Amino acid sequence: MTAADSNAVAAALTEEKKALLIAAARAAAANAYVPYSGFPVGAAALTESGDIVSGVNIENASYGLTNCGERVAIQSAAARGHRVILAVAISAPKAAGATPCGACRQVMNEFKPVDREMYILLDNVDSVEEIRLSDLLPRAFGPRDLALAGDRHENM
Ligand SMILES: [Zn+2]
Repeated sequence: MTAADSNAVAAALTEEKKALLIAAARAAAANAYVPYSGFPVGAAALTESGDIVSGVNIENASYGLTNCGERVAIQSAAARGHRVILAVAISAPKAAGATPCGACRQVMNEFKPVDREMYILLDNVDSVEEIRLSDLLPRAFGPRDLALAGDRHENM
């Protein structure tokens, strides 16, 4: 990753966009479907084109089918044709600052900008913590390992 590439992502992630992302994640949390855990999570993904797509955790009576808010947001964005996610905001009202689970980190890595960082914004209620995906998932396995990094946008 070059400094210029990192700066390009950082430039797209303005303070205004960060505030919008956190607000979207907080608003989404109200729609979480969590009858079993009572642990709502809202997430919002910022796409390369500037769209914000939100998601919530959705539980199931067959517990293993539960999906996290982060994955719902990212996969909803993918379903709308987006292939690059610049940042994901996460709001967990009952656990401020909660970080994404391992499965979500892997899914984030799939749609992070090639050779650039994805930023994760954690809602700490009165502040926002910004962390890099590479700090949450170092030495990640991803599209590049399958030699698809260069053409995932064209072929998918
Ligand atoms: Zn998760």
